[in-house]
Amino acid sequence: MRAPELTPASRIYVAGHRGLAGSALCGRLRAAGYENLVLAGSSEVDLRDRAATTRFLTEAAPDVVVLAAARGGGSGANAAEPADVLSANLRIQVNVMDAARAAGVPRLLFLASSAMYPRESRQPVRETSLLAGPLEPTTEAYAIAKIAGMAQVRAVREQDGLPWITAIPTNLYGPGDNFHPTSSHVLAGLMRRIHDAAVAGAPSVVVWGTGTPRREFLHADDLADACLTLLAHYDEPGPVNVGTGRDISVADLAKMLAETIGYTGAIEFDPGRPDGTPRKVLDIRALTGLGWEPKIRLRAGIASTYQWYLDSLTLPRQREAVRGHEMVR
Ligand code: GDP
Repeated sequence: MRAPELTPASRIYVAGHRGLAGSALCGRLRAAGYENLVLAGSSEVDLRDRAATTRFLTEAAPDVVVLAAARGGGSGANAAEPADVLSANLRIQVNVMDAARAAGVPRLLFLASSAMYPRESRQPVRETSLLAGPLEPTTEAYAIAKIAGMAQVRAVREQDGLPWITAIPTNLYGPGDNFHPTSSHVLAGLMRRIHDAAVAGAPSVVVWGTGTPRREFLHADDLADACLTLLAHYDEPGPVNVGTGRDISVADLAKMLAETIGYTGAIEFDPGRPDGTPRKVLDIRALTGLGWEPKIRLRAGIASTYQWYLDSLTLPRQREAVRGHEMVR
């Protein structure tokens, strides 16, 4: 079966529409004129519940499913609750994909994660590195679930001939991110701690590790844009990376954050905290070959995300989003 074209009439179910990726995708879809969105929060359908998920998808009968729902995979959650992370993600994926198959959904995009690449992958990481070596132990539960999701997409393509696809986003950031000072990822976590230091007038702020590790950051709106490109143009069994292809050191990121926030105190490093892997950046040539490129430069993305964070301190709806980080990474 050929991938059906997206039209303004397409019924599109975004699973995980309240999360970082899902909410950005809904915004982008609406802006592009796709108004026929099927949405259901976790209070309406618990995707870990197989019967409820099947009922929902049978009734909704979408033309497209974007599977952006996940149980958060930060290394903190993975280390503390690996059994919950593994089980919840596997159930969400299997339930949604089985129900989508049963409902004959012709097109599905599964959002995986760059955590599924082997720990020692050659940088920038190409899609061919998948399953070529051992995983990072601290995020293994999340990674294994995402690998299983990718395998399921491929298996459905093989068995049913449906044009389902997998994307592998790099580290995301943006409005709706998890800003917890300690259980979040580096960009939002540091933003929060530097903000708190600025408000308190603290003379210094501590960045974990040595500051030398290099990471790549993709704004959720850029991911959303990439999803539209993939739904329009991508139909291969293998997954495709979504990133910026550019990396920055944690020290330079901290500097950029401090400049945006207006924090003038000292930035200190705590080498007692783990650095993690020295460098993580994706090779995005497969995606740029389709004509897509990231549009949001890191400095601009950080500025708008910080503004959103400031608003979240006063606007109740955004405060809710900051608090509720159960379901989506
Ligand atoms: P990773 O890509 O899986 O290592 O994810 P993280 O986003 O948790 O960490 C990235 C890097 O940022 C690591 O080298 C951390 O030591 C460093 N880092 C510095 N400050 C922070 C912080 O406040 N929070 C987090 N999560 N990482 C930090």
